[in-house]
Amino acid sequence: MEDCLFCSIIAGKIPSAKVYEDEYVYAFRDINPQAPVHVLIVPREHLQDAKALKGEKALIAAKVFEAAGRIAEQEGVSETGFRVITNCGHDGCQSVQHLHFHLLGGKQLSEKMD
Ligand code: AMP
Repeated sequence: MEDCLFCSIIAGKIPSAKVYEDEYVYAFRDINPQAPVHVLIVPREHLQDAKALKGEKALIAAKVFEAAGRIAEQEGVSETGFRVITNCGHDGCQSVQHLHFHLLGGKQLSEKMD
């Protein structure tokens, strides 16, 4: 999609620190990391947010979590633990309107979820 930051990153038009890619997702380091490991896992298909993960598109969620497991392994946080979250809409503080999942780890994360 034109004018979408993450579509441009996936297309290689904007540089990113790639961590992982497969047929379904592209993953790269967050530019403003909130933890020693902070990777964004982005479905290649442009979907606005988590609400779009329904019907046949729900498969994408499974592919994201499959990738998350591999990335956690690769980043050395599989055993210590990690968090995968997606922000949705205004109150969820979603700032990029292309569905993405944050994988955070490498330190003890806060129990607080907000
Ligand atoms: P969210 O606030 O959940 O929509 O997350 C968007 C994330 O994208 C934020 O954590 C930003 O730091 C990150 N971000 C924005 N622009 C870039 C970029 N060019 N490369 C890597 N991460 C980015």
